[in-house]
Amino acid sequence: MYKVGITGGIGSGKTTVCKVFEVLGIPVFYADTEAKNIMIQDALLIEGIKSTFGKESYFEDGKLNNKHIAGIVFNNEAQLAKLNALVHPAVFRAFDVWEEQVNPNVPYTLKEAALLFESGSYTMCDTTILVTAPLDIKLKRVMQRDQVTADQVTARIDKQLSDDEKAKLANHFIRNDEEHSIIEQVLALHQQFLEIVTDLQI
Ligand code: ATP
Repeated sequence: MYKVGITGGIGSGKTTVCKVFEVLGIPVFYADTEAKNIMIQDALLIEGIKSTFGKESYFEDGKLNNKHIAGIVFNNEAQLAKLNALVHPAVFRAFDVWEEQVNPNVPYTLKEAALLFESGSYTMCDTTILVTAPLDIKLKRVMQRDQVTADQVTARIDKQLSDDEKAKLANHFIRNDEEHSIIEQVLALHQQFLEIVTDLQI
C-alpha cells in the first residue's frame, strides 16, 4: 500500500489537514494518539519503560505515571532519547498492524506524526507532506486551542526541528496560512497520489 507521511510543527494544522483527507476516504494513522494508547497497552513497551525508568512509571491500575516520566525526560535529552527509542519502534509495529486491517481497496494511507522526520518514520513512507504556517498564526491557534500563553507555545515550538530543516526532507507542502485554501491543496495532492498509485499498478 502506498504510504504518505504527513507532519508539521505544533499548530501548523496537520490534524486539520488529515481530516480533509479522511473526508476523501483516505484512512489516517495518528501516530501521536497511538503512542499514548500503546504506552498502556503494548506489553513489550510497558516492560521496556518499567525497566528503563522504574516500576513507578505505572500506577497499580496500569495507568501511566506521566508526572514521573515527564520529571525524568523533561529537559534531559539523553533520557528523552531513551524513551523515544522505546516508543518509536512500538509505534512502527502498531502502524504495520493497523495497515493490515485497512480496507485493501483504498488507494493509499496517511501516517500523521509530529516527529515524522526526527523518528526516522519518513523512511518507511513513499512520500511526505509538510504542513506549514507562519509563526504568529501557529501561536494564535495553539493559544486558543489549548488555552495557553504565547511563551508556553514558543517553548514547545523551540523544542521542535525548524520548518526549514523539515522542508529539506519533505516532498510536498501544504501552506495552512490565512491566504491559501487547504481544501484546494489537499484535492491537488490527492489527485497526484491517485495518478502515482495508478501508474504503479500498470
Ligand atoms: P499539534 O501539533 O499541536 O497537534 P496540529 O498541527 O495538529 O497541532 P491542529 O490541531 O490541526 O494542528 O490545528 C491547531 C488549531 O488551529 C486547531 O484548533 C484547528 O482547529 C485550528 N486550525 C487549523 N487550521 C486552520 C485553518 N486553516 N483555519 C482556521 N483554524 C485552523
